[in-house]
Amino acid sequence: MAAAYEYEVHEYDVVVVGAGGAGLRATLGMAEQGLRTACISKVFPTRSHTVAAQGGIAASLGNMGPDSWQWHMYDTVKGSDWLGDTDAMEYLAREAPKAVYELEHYGVPFSRTEEGKIYQRPFGGHTTEFGEGPPVQRTCAAADRTGHAILHTLYGQSLKQQAEFYIEYFAIDLIMSDDGVCTGVVCWKLDDGTMHVFNAKMVVLATGGYGRAYFSATSAHTCTGDGGGMVARAGLALQDMEFVQFHPTGIYGSGCLITEGARGEGGYLTNSEGERFMERYAPHYKDLAPRDYVSRCMTMEIREGRGVGKDGDHIHLHLNHLPAEALAERLPGISESAKIFAGVDVTKEPIPVLPTVHYNMGGIPTNYWGEVLNPTADNPTATVPGLMAVGEAGCASVHGANRLGSNSLIDLVVFGRAAAIRAGQVVDPTKANPTLNKAAVQKAFDRFDGLRYAQGGTPTAELRLEMQKTMQRDAAVFRTAETMKDGVEAMTAIAGKLNDLHVTDTSLVWNSDLMETLELTNLMPNALATIVGAEARHESRGAHAHEDHPTRDDENWRVHSVMRVDGNNVDLTYRPVIVDPLTTEGEGGISLETIAPKARTF
Ligand SMILES: Cc1cc2nc3c(=O)[nH]c(=O)nc-3n(C[C@H](O)[C@H](O)[C@H](O)COP(=O)(O)OP(=O)(O)OC[C@H]3O[C@@H](n4cnc5c(N)ncnc54)[C@H](O)[C@@H]3O)c2cc1C
Repeated sequence: MAAAYEYEVHEYDVVVVGAGGAGLRATLGMAEQGLRTACISKVFPTRSHTVAAQGGIAASLGNMGPDSWQWHMYDTVKGSDWLGDTDAMEYLAREAPKAVYELEHYGVPFSRTEEGKIYQRPFGGHTTEFGEGPPVQRTCAAADRTGHAILHTLYGQSLKQQAEFYIEYFAIDLIMSDDGVCTGVVCWKLDDGTMHVFNAKMVVLATGGYGRAYFSATSAHTCTGDGGGMVARAGLALQDMEFVQFHPTGIYGSGCLITEGARGEGGYLTNSEGERFMERYAPHYKDLAPRDYVSRCMTMEIREGRGVGKDGDHIHLHLNHLPAEALAERLPGISESAKIFAGVDVTKEPIPVLPTVHYNMGGIPTNYWGEVLNPTADNPTATVPGLMAVGEAGCASVHGANRLGSNSLIDLVVFGRAAAIRAGQVVDPTKANPTLNKAAVQKAFDRFDGLRYAQGGTPTAELRLEMQKTMQRDAAVFRTAETMKDGVEAMTAIAGKLNDLHVTDTSLVWNSDLMETLELTNLMPNALATIVGAEARHESRGAHAHEDHPTRDDENWRVHSVMRVDGNNVDLTYRPVIVDPLTTEGEGGISLETIAPKARTF
């Protein structure tokens, strides 16, 4: 029998799901143009994971020395290991300074230089002269609390523009029409158990990453890939999911992040022999080589017996040679984290660190306006009407196979802003909203009800742990054909057990058991797509280091993976990478020769 739930219908021009940096920047931009905008979030907006971003936001302002958007674009292309879409990467680098000055004018309290300009620090992979010159100071920072500053500012500005917030509402599923148009989203209000249907001309998914598919991650427990889960259930695609970034410096044990800004400010890594080993692997950029590279070097040092600690299983990060005043001014937050999570006084001792899951390069495929793609063989860039995705949930794709540090915060604001610009063009506020597909609404309630009364043999927490341990073991920094084959088998079985869940609490008010179960049903398709995509990709590129295929193979593999997940089955196809930039060299752009693939050395 169909589950009977009463619900309230809310009509808006635009509904944004997610109130992190991406969701808030989109919400603000939509509301500024007079579109009736709702923003839905399962946590209070300023508790979104963006609040934890420490290091900063990349833009070629050139406040600390020469810089240009063309250099930023080149670094992003190279950082992506030539898997990013070139039009989107150009858009990101070109629009970045504008987007950062807008943030400044909205009121973000950036740190300042002596002359009062926005302070910028060096970050891994950001260079001058198209990778030939010294590292550049491109990462704009508000001490080591940049995400916190951005989030609070954007939330205040969105309220000022009369955007309406639905806080602690959990989005369950998209409402798709029979002809494939997104017309809204079904939500559960966590604090009183009521049900809500949002009907809109445009739905924007800004639900963040799925770091919690792994056992040890720097991301918040709320990062459960809900947008990806909703998209997969709607029969739409995920893209490039095999590329998962490990951050070199998670605190050993807790996984809590020490920003790359720490190395930007002069920190360095050592092994058990006290050797500053990055000088050996990356003579030019040393500790400021990109994250995938540094994570692999650290793993190699540990494997070869030069790890530190009694089990020789981690690495030291030194800040103790830096002046105490500099640490207090530029890195106060991480000094505190190191004290709390490692019991270390950073002015005196090194911090024990280990590569930790940090960022998902893959996600919901979009063009550089944030419009969701539904790639087919005939039309690899076909769009889904009424649906956008921005931020870590999306894949534009500017990070390709590996993201550069501080390129995510800029991705949030550049593409949050782009989505709003585009919505201003395609959403007509004078028109009536699309009719709701009642059958799709009912389907969402049926799924919800099925989970609410699930009486199988596997508690949610148990299955989640099994998934997390499997992903940590089989889709790690280094991957072999054998581990990934085992991983696909294990994950296929684990995803199958979603039909055997056991939920104990059937109430509708603050039911964390049920909420975590819904989240697990979202994590699972993300995790499964990750391991299946990884096993199939017979090359090494960016964050995907395949030991049996150690080199990059542009001839066969410079393609985006497109995965459609149905239950525990993944249908895997590929779409071409967009290689043409938006502007030619004659128009002031970058030459095709400059960004042609080559070996990635540092
Ligand atoms: C510790 C840490 C430090 C970082 N430091 C930096 C840095 O210095 N520079 C940089 O560029 N990048 C950094 N990153 C990466 C960057 O911060 C993230 O990629 C980015 O903040 C993601 O933003 P987002 O807006 O996409 O999602 P999030 O900030 O994760 O927000 C997701 C939103 O979606 C909502 N949501 C999710 N699911 C649902 C649902 N089912 N129903 C309703 N609402 C839902 C949540 O409530 C939340 O509001 C860091 C990441 C981490 C983890």
